[in-house]
Amino acid sequence: MHSVTILGATGSIGVSTLDVISQHPEKYSIFALTGCRQLEKLAQQSVQHSAKFAVVTDELSAKKLSILIQELKGSTEVIFGKDALSEVARSNQVDIVMAAIVGAEGLLPTLSAVESGKKVLLANKESLVMAGSIFMAAVKQNGATLLPIDSEHNAIFQCLPQDYSDGDRSSIKKLILSASGGPFRTWDTAKIAMATPAQACAHPNWSMGNKISVDSASMMNKGLECIEAKWLFDTSMDRIDVLIHPQSIVHSLVQYVDGSVMAQLGNPDMRTPIAYGLAWPKRLPSGVADLNLSEIAQLSFEPPDIEKFPCLQIAYDAAKEGGDAPAILNAANEIAVEAFLDGRIGFTAIPKVVEKTLDSFDFYEPQSLAAVQDSDSRARAAARSLIKRLEF
Ligand code: NAD
Ligand code: MG
Repeated sequence: MHSVTILGATGSIGVSTLDVISQHPEKYSIFALTGCRQLEKLAQQSVQHSAKFAVVTDELSAKKLSILIQELKGSTEVIFGKDALSEVARSNQVDIVMAAIVGAEGLLPTLSAVESGKKVLLANKESLVMAGSIFMAAVKQNGATLLPIDSEHNAIFQCLPQDYSDGDRSSIKKLILSASGGPFRTWDTAKIAMATPAQACAHPNWSMGNKISVDSASMMNKGLECIEAKWLFDTSMDRIDVLIHPQSIVHSLVQYVDGSVMAQLGNPDMRTPIAYGLAWPKRLPSGVADLNLSEIAQLSFEPPDIEKFPCLQIAYDAAKEGGDAPAILNAANEIAVEAFLDGRIGFTAIPKVVEKTLDSFDFYEPQSLAAVQDSDSRARAAARSLIKRLEF
C-alpha cells in the first residue's frame, strides 16, 4: 500500500489522479489533499478518500473546510498555509507526491517532496521552468524519483532507452514534442487578436485548467515544455523539436541515430500518464478507453507557425539565454494570462507583455531558491506595471 499526497487535488490533474487511485484501493491510500478555492469539492474528496489531512491556503478557508468536512461526517484534519503544503509533501508517512498545483505556487511544496527523496509525479512544469538547475540538483542529491506526468514528457520517458539515465546519450538524435496547435491553429491573426477567454479555454482535445488551456492556445505551453524537457532529459535546446499534430494521439517521439523513431500513442486522457507514474516501473489499468486507430483513420503532422504564435520562439530564446530568463518568462506569462482571463488585455498582448518584461531585465544565474523567487517577483511587478500602463 502506497500513501499519496496530491498537491492541487481539486484541479484537472488532481481529479484524474483521484480517479485512477479510486480504481486501485488495494494499492494506494490518500495521506493529504490540497486545494485553494473549491472548498466543497475538497471536502467531498477528503471524506470520500479518507484523507488524513486537507490543506488550504488561509485560516478562513480552513475554518469553512472543517465545517464542510464535519457536515459530511469526515475525520480529515484541516491545516493551512505554505508551510502546511510543504509539510504534507515531505511527511515521512508519504511515499508518492503528485505535484499538480498550477504555476509558481507549486515550486516550494514540490521541492519539499524532492528534498525528502519521495517518488514525485511532476505535472507542475512551472517549477522546472523557474528553477530547473536547483530542482534537478535536489533530485540527484536527495535520491528522489522524478516521473514526468506532462503527456509529452511522459511519452518521451516511455520511449527512451533503459540506460538513458546512466548518461549514455549517443544513440539519441532528437526529442520531438508533439503539440495539438491549440484551438486557434487554423485561425488567422486578426481573428486570434479578438479571441475571448472562453474560446482560448476550449481546447479541442484536452480538458484542462484555465491557465494551461490559455498557454496551449498561445503555444507558450509548448515553449514551457521545451524548457521542461531540457531539464528532465538533461539535453540542449537544439536537440528538442516541436511537431504539430492536431489529433493529440501521438504524445511525443524520440528519434534515434539509426533512423528509428519511437513514439507513444494513446487517447488524449491524462489518466494514462498518471497511471504510468503511479505504477512505474509497472503498469496499471487507468480507465482510459482503448485506442481505436482504424476509427481515427488519419494522423497528421505539420511544422509550428512561429509568426502566428510568437510565444514559442520567445520561450525558446529565454531557454537559450539561460540563467533567470526562464523564471522571468514564466512569471510574466502568469501575470499576462491572468490579465487576459480577467478581460484586462487581449490575447495577442500576452506575448507582448512577456517579451517586454524580458527586455527590461539583465539576466544572471540564480544560485539559490531565494534568488529565483526574487527574479520571479521582480518580473511579476514589471509585467503588472506594463499592463497597468495599458501599453497594449
Ligand atoms: P487546475 O487549474 O485545474 O488546478 C490547479 C490546482 O492548483 C487546483 O487544485 C488549485 O486549488 C491549486 N492551486 C491554484 N492556485 C493555488 C495556490 N495559490 N496555492 C495552492 N494551490 C493552488 O490546473 P491543472 O490543469 O490541473 O494543471 C495543474 C498543473 O499540471 C499545471 O502546472 C499544468 O501545467 C500541469 N499540467 C496539466 C495538464 C492537464 O491536462 N490539465 C497536462 C499537463 C500538465
Ligand atoms: Mg503537455
